[in-house]
Amino acid sequence: MLTDIQIAQQAKMKYISEIAEEAGINSDELEMYGHYKAKVSLDLFDRLEKQENGKLILVTAINPTPAGEGKSTTTVGLGQALNQIGKKTAIALREPSLGPVFGVKGGAAGGGQAQVVPMEDINLHFTGDMHAITTANNLLSAAIDNHIHQGNTLDIDTRQIVWKRVMDMNDRALREVTVGLGPKGNGFTRQDSFMISVASEVMATLCLANSLADLKERLGNIVVAYTRKNQPVLAKELNIQGALALVLKDAMKPNLVQTLENTPAFIHGGPFANIAHGCNSIMATKMALKLGDYAVTEAGFGADLGAEKFLDIKCRYGGLKPDAVVIVGTIRALKMHGGVDKKSLEAENVDALKKGFVNLKKQVENIRKFGLPAVVAMNRFPTDTEEEIKALRALCEDLGVDVALSEVFTKGGEGGIELAEKVVGIVEKGEADYKPLYEVEKSIPEKVETIVKEIYGGDNVVFTGKAEKQIQKLEEIGLDKLPICMAKTQYSLTDDPTLLGAPEGFDITVREVNVSAGAGFIVCLTGDVMTMPGLPKVPSAERMDIDEEGTITGLF
Ligand code: ADP
Repeated sequence: MLTDIQIAQQAKMKYISEIAEEAGINSDELEMYGHYKAKVSLDLFDRLEKQENGKLILVTAINPTPAGEGKSTTTVGLGQALNQIGKKTAIALREPSLGPVFGVKGGAAGGGQAQVVPMEDINLHFTGDMHAITTANNLLSAAIDNHIHQGNTLDIDTRQIVWKRVMDMNDRALREVTVGLGPKGNGFTRQDSFMISVASEVMATLCLANSLADLKERLGNIVVAYTRKNQPVLAKELNIQGALALVLKDAMKPNLVQTLENTPAFIHGGPFANIAHGCNSIMATKMALKLGDYAVTEAGFGADLGAEKFLDIKCRYGGLKPDAVVIVGTIRALKMHGGVDKKSLEAENVDALKKGFVNLKKQVENIRKFGLPAVVAMNRFPTDTEEEIKALRALCEDLGVDVALSEVFTKGGEGGIELAEKVVGIVEKGEADYKPLYEVEKSIPEKVETIVKEIYGGDNVVFTGKAEKQIQKLEEIGLDKLPICMAKTQYSLTDDPTLLGAPEGFDITVREVNVSAGAGFIVCLTGDVMTMPGLPKVPSAERMDIDEEGTITGLF
């Protein structure tokens, strides 16, 4: 079997100018980055202001297991399939972070016959957005330390600087650092940390901004530190928001590439899915909506986190109204949710599948709570048996949810025709009546409780003493009326990654509550979140190579 990179390198790509023309993008709106990548000017929105939007489809999944789910693969494959059945479709995906590519992570550009290309570029430097985000983040860091060095008129408490430096590399040595060592001219010595660039609030802010002006205003609202009197210090108090927006002027424009079947694909913005909302930019989704009958996009992690944040954070800020949600599940993963260990997944086990189905059922019920219809995509793996497929279809039928077998990994768009037809069928019924789960005006504990009870199926929320104090502080400074961004394990509906299926009778403990006032949400941490990954003992980087002819190996 060919690897993803082998398939990708054999792709018959069209020039991106041709893809753009077919999609309805004018040549003067296209900013070329070589032959196969381009940025699209935000001017497109003015020209197409009166054009009706296409239908918005979100692709999400059951709680992931080590057996693999395939959201990106399904998103790409569904986009290809919709085009095959005559629906003009564009897709919008997250932009991968470069650092983790050298660690253990698989590709983030789909898989098999459902990929976006040129995948080696998308997974590496692409169009430089990550570099711009890194630069903007670190410009803000430099401005903070310089302000303190130059007299600290804002009275920043150097023990309460919450803004961290970033780099797009898995580099554990940078997790805790000391800056400002040396003579007086080097500033004040203090402890600092590095995060990976995609964890930067600049990334989340860029993804939730509706225009360059909106971006600038949001960047200005970022809380960078607290004073010795515990008052927030905002980026705009350092007069830096204009320069930050300037650094990001090109990064703000969606990147256009194509799938293996020449479907237009916007790959733009990739915030963390725990301390941030894990979705591609609002700009990219809106552009996909402007250009097609259908726009297919995805959200990170399982539906309890990714879809919830897409629907409660991104749709709210972007004024987006989804028309249907595709929930990806695999028979292998459902068997794991039913208690089978990874080594025994190859064997047919209809009973475990039936038992593990509770996880999928809960996610379908959750999507309905947002007023949206769901379609289940069974992402087919070679080990799935006919009996298991039949059983899963029957279970979905009992639940009253449409289900389609998706074979886009092996067959490309053709393998997703059943899914595409089901999606179109449900969209054309016009049942979607999107509403967010909670009102932002509610208190932080009320909002978190709604998510925990309605989406996770938990009983109560326990706030630690530290979290309670932080909530009180956010209420005092008037930053509590924002949507909630839960940082929870993706593997379970609970905050314990080992509890699979759909557990009942549990509490969720919130340990820390922070504000990302620029992005526009409150982050509730239920456990430790690693914001600077490390490399494993044998990093994938050791397998990578490029020869004289430019042939790449080892990149997935
Ligand atoms: P997600 O977006 O849910 O993280 P991806 O779509 O990136 O998942 O897929 C994860 C990995 O699994 C990728 O390496 C992809 O190539 C592989 N994969 C996805 N679907 C299939 C399938 N049906 N058969 C085999 N491998 C698959």
